[in-house]
Amino acid sequence: MYLFVIGMGTLLFFLAALTSGQGEPFQHAVGPVLVVLGIADFWWLWTGRPLHVAERAGYAVLAAASVVHLAFLSQSRTVPSFYPDSGPYWTVVCVCAVGFLAFPRRLAWWLNLSLLGVCLALPWLAQGLYALHNPIAFLRLQWSVIIVTGLLGTLASLRAQVDEKGQTEKVLQTLAFTDSLTGLPNRRAVYPAVAALLDAHQQGVPGTLYLIDIDHFKRINDEHGHAVGDEVLIEVARLIATCETLPGSLSPTVGRWGGEEFIVVMPSTDHMLSQQRGEVLLAQFQQTLWPLALTVSVSIGSSTVRPGDTFNSLLARADHALYQAKAQGRNRIVLDLEHGVVQDHAETT
Ligand code: GH3
Ligand code: MG
Ligand code: MG
Repeated sequence: MYLFVIGMGTLLFFLAALTSGQGEPFQHAVGPVLVVLGIADFWWLWTGRPLHVAERAGYAVLAAASVVHLAFLSQSRTVPSFYPDSGPYWTVVCVCAVGFLAFPRRLAWWLNLSLLGVCLALPWLAQGLYALHNPIAFLRLQWSVIIVTGLLGTLASLRAQVDEKGQTEKVLQTLAFTDSLTGLPNRRAVYPAVAALLDAHQQGVPGTLYLIDIDHFKRINDEHGHAVGDEVLIEVARLIATCETLPGSLSPTVGRWGGEEFIVVMPSTDHMLSQQRGEVLLAQFQQTLWPLALTVSVSIGSSTVRPGDTFNSLLARADHALYQAKAQGRNRIVLDLEHGVVQDHAETT
């Protein structure tokens, strides 16, 4: 959009410079500068460089052009009267609007107030002030320019404040749904994924949930300290989150369920895929180089959605399966198979 606007603007400046007659000497002087600016900005953005540099350069050139224009008009004996030709001042207002967009709030105010001050004072200071027909009307014009620029600045400030508030809310929202240690979604953030799993099952799409618990994690804390325990937790989280999706299953949602327990919500995953994925994950734990060359393993309780399941029933079966995995010796996955029977499945080592 910027490229389009700059392209069209440059074309307009070019045509204006070409068609300006004798009576518009400013066009002769500044028109080509604006055309060069437009082409330079277009090239700058076309080659993928930062927008704010183009905006600030544009502001600098346009502000300088406005001052030159007003100085020229103020001194020109060929222009009999400044007022009612208010165009140059409204151009300054537009330049100020660019300033409010291109610079940080405080800097924009300083730059624009300086620009406005110079532009408002110029006609009064200029030698041979071409006897303004109606100084009161001229003052009224200048006053309007001040008011409109002030209004623009206030709007820009309000918008910036709203943006900042939105950013803060976004950060708070992210923090509220993220586990600070591992960076994974927390328990609350995973609920919608489980709800979606239950919904999808009603459309005939299978879905599976893992509860994963680190084996003998307390020992790691006791023997090596909490800092090492934390390091292991972070690495476990990374491993579970990056465990590759098996063919036929969609990307899982991984979260920290609490303490040293994790939850994985896997859409389009039936018992068979669940078992395969679990085995891949367990094998990856064996292959990972852990801090202090520790041996770290996990137990996985897997439950696959059944007709009439609720969040609680699905979770209860995963929890029960996890309990079974622990009871059967850890470092394994246990599935909740039909008829309520929980059976052991492949320990990889
Ligand atoms: P099991 O194989 O039966 O699961 O044994 P376990 O030792 O892993 O289980 P237990 O429930 O006895 O201990 C869990 C430990 O996890 C206790 C707690 O201090 C530790 N823990 C929980 N959250 C954190 C954490 O954020 N950082 C660290 N370093 N430790 C944590
Ligand atoms: Mg536990
Ligand atoms: Mg544990």
